Amino acid sequence: MINYKDLGLVNTREMFKKAVDGGYAIPAFNFNNMEQLQAIIMAAAETKSPVILQVSKGARQYANQTLLRYMAEGAVEYAKELGWENPQIVLHLDHGDSFETCKSCIDMGFSSVMIDGSHLPYEENVALTKRVVEYAHQFDVTVEGELGVLAGVEDEVSAAESHYTKPEEVVDFVTKTGCDSLAISIGTSHGAFKFTPEQCTLDPETGRLLPPPLAFDVLAAIEQQLPGFPIVLHGSSSVPQDEVDTINKYGGALKAAVGIPEEQLRKASKSAVCKINIDSDSRLAMTAAVREVFANKPAEFDPRKYLGPARDNMKKLYIHKIKEVLGSDNKA
Ligand SMILES: [Zn+2]
Repeated sequence: MINYKDLGLVNTREMFKKAVDGGYAIPAFNFNNMEQLQAIIMAAAETKSPVILQVSKGARQYANQTLLRYMAEGAVEYAKELGWENPQIVLHLDHGDSFETCKSCIDMGFSSVMIDGSHLPYEENVALTKRVVEYAHQFDVTVEGELGVLAGVEDEVSAAESHYTKPEEVVDFVTKTGCDSLAISIGTSHGAFKFTPEQCTLDPETGRLLPPPLAFDVLAAIEQQLPGFPIVLHGSSSVPQDEVDTINKYGGALKAAVGIPEEQLRKASKSAVCKINIDSDSRLAMTAAVREVFANKPAEFDPRKYLGPARDNMKKLYIHKIKEVLGSDNKA
């Protein structure tokens, strides 16, 4: 049993309170490897932004849960080396699928967990979330619950269609479970193909697909029910068109990839939404940089020569998100 506080990590409680009060959102970036982690920490340290390092089920299977935990511990020390005196870093389990998974992460030093019971019948979701909260709170670990279903596929979380969170359920859920934050469904979705072309309208000026807007009325109704309570948005990549274009220019085949426009995420960040999950955008930034090197320098075989540019491109993306979309710079 290791407590996250001994590793220099923090939970989300203070961070979320400040974000809700200050009208900004904390970035929650997924990581699976060293370059991605370095890019996240460099970006957060440079902008003095609190940051949530997220570990998904796919990441645990790919990189190993124990190794990822030690990498996060290393990340705290690395952040200090970069001149960030008091790093505000959360190590968070993304989409915990059982009590046992959450417990094992809490026991090895995670400072925050998500228990995703959103696919279960309501009462079962309440019971499972409550059980995780009761365990986590003994160690001052914060818990994210979820109500409503997001569409899309990402790291073994998948649903064919989304169901918006019902505002009339949120008070009962939060009261019964004691969860610290709530992930809701208002039209975001997982992955880089968030909408079919049929769901979008064509922008005549750019020739690009515009997705349907997020359900800000549902968000407003939830905020009215739970004033000041921390709200989380999953599936909030914007799928930058320049990264998609680079990928396709250098041999990729990403067709009709559509994300959430940054303008809408900017608007959400100013509300009670205090954690915004971004994963696909970083995958696109990494892939675009690697493809460009492979296309332009086919004789290159030193991984540092293509993973280095990938890291630079991800760092640029993270800084952009922090400063231009979420507004979390200079908050840590
Ligand atoms: Zn998610």
